[in-house]
Amino acid sequence: DPVKENYVRKVKNCVFSIAFPTPFQSRVRLVAVSKEVLEDILDLDLSVSETDDFIQLVSGGKIVFGSIPLAHRYGGHQFGIWADQLGDGRAHLIGIYMNRQGEKWELQLKGSGKTPYSRNGDGRAILRSSLREFLCSEAMHYLGIPTSRAASLVVSDDVVWRDQFYNGNLAKERGAVVLRVAKSWFRIGSLEILTHSGELDLLRMLLDFIIQEYFPLVDVKEPNRYVDFFSIVVFETAQLIALWMSVGFAHGVCNTDNFSLLSITIDYGPFGFMEAYNPDFVPNTSDDERRYKIGNQANIGMFNLNKLLQALNPLLNPRQKQLATQILKEYPVLYYTRFRELFKAKLGLLGKSEGDDDLIAFLLHLMEKTEADFTMTFRQLSEITQSQLQELVIPQEFWALKMISKHKLFPAWVSQYLSRLKSNISDSDSERRKRMTAVNPRYVLKNWMAESAVQKAERNDFSEFKLFPRSTSCSKFSAILSRSTLQLREQAIPPQLLPG
Ligand code: AMP
Ligand code: MG
Ligand code: MG
Repeated sequence: DPVKENYVRKVKNCVFSIAFPTPFQSRVRLVAVSKEVLEDILDLDLSVSETDDFIQLVSGGKIVFGSIPLAHRYGGHQFGIWADQLGDGRAHLIGIYMNRQGEKWELQLKGSGKTPYSRNGDGRAILRSSLREFLCSEAMHYLGIPTSRAASLVVSDDVVWRDQFYNGNLAKERGAVVLRVAKSWFRIGSLEILTHSGELDLLRMLLDFIIQEYFPLVDVKEPNRYVDFFSIVVFETAQLIALWMSVGFAHGVCNTDNFSLLSITIDYGPFGFMEAYNPDFVPNTSDDERRYKIGNQANIGMFNLNKLLQALNPLLNPRQKQLATQILKEYPVLYYTRFRELFKAKLGLLGKSEGDDDLIAFLLHLMEKTEADFTMTFRQLSEITQSQLQELVIPQEFWALKMISKHKLFPAWVSQYLSRLKSNISDSDSERRKRMTAVNPRYVLKNWMAESAVQKAERNDFSEFKLFPRSTSCSKFSAILSRSTLQLREQAIPPQLLPG
């Protein structure tokens, strides 16, 4: 009985609860699919996406053959404060899919109805936020940043009420569902909840499962495995946040429940790409204390890793605790090393030079003072020639550089930059340009771009997304949950339902 399964409750002694998606009552329409996710990850013919079968599957209207849908129990620190049980309040894990390359991917619906973890929520997601998630996760992937992916987006005519501007006025919205895909959806909060409720056997079991499945470099038989695991998460988190900074991405809600143990970007909410360079950029309008401003993300990474360490603590002996604490102390160095590498590449610098940090910091300072566009400044620096820079004649089309050049210290920076470029051994303008354009995107998903797609979609104009209206059946598309995942369930299920 789905209704019974889904009632909101405090859950104990499990990692997942069985929870069934709630089908929409009204017509469901396909808004978008990601060709690459369907074809490269899910081995699906793109034409499948137009079929009724497909739309049923990806909206939670029908359960994938062999699947026992689950909602994950996790907790988390929200805005620095322990929030206790959170969990998948509007998401359903519908299966783990193994593709032709032998990769396992977890398929999750978001916006698919209430679960035991819905608290006061309605279990739904609206078109605007679903669209933003769909677009941004795909954009991040193509910017080379580890992220969950989005396979599809559907919208229904079911009414969902939302206080869009937090002014107490509810507006009518439409329920939407994104099919999200990731290697794993486990978060720091997945472990925290078990430690906080003293479920240490389960904590050990879950950690060993995670290590076994997703951390091939860590030996599950090794007594120091949790420290080894921790050191990888510390390293990868530092890498991820440095990557975010390199494209001006602010996540917006860096709570521990939104920080992946695989260090991929997950849970796209009030994210934003900064336009004019500003370390105080806060994309989330309800983040009054500006906790998650872009320039604070690296610090928040440290805070979250510290919470992860606290979650691991009961499983560590004194020696291991000391080791893990030592590892965490390395985090700032790991972060700055990656940050420097990325920004040196953005400036086309080869090799090493003492003044590199200053050169980067100097440029960022000029950008901040002149409010020059972050993305375009780097892009245009890639495209301008050294002699144009030397002469300080900046063509009109390099509008971001024109802006930054208004600063009286710009010539000083240029002269430092040009002399540093001279130390690049066997380099040329065209080589530099090739390198720099490869790492300095022309486009990131700026708010106005997402907004334009949202505005059109609100009027049922989905023309910004390509669909391919051929039809075949999608019987190929079946997913199973792995046995080990099933062991982590809330209740025993009859053995005949076990897949495989
Ligand atoms: P978020 O801030 O989006 O990471 O969500 C924090 C928690 O609130 C998670 O447990 C979500 O599942 C839950 N949540 C957010 N929105 C809803 C909703 N509309 N219905 C039920 N749960 C929700
Ligand atoms: Mg979340
Ligand atoms: Mg969210």
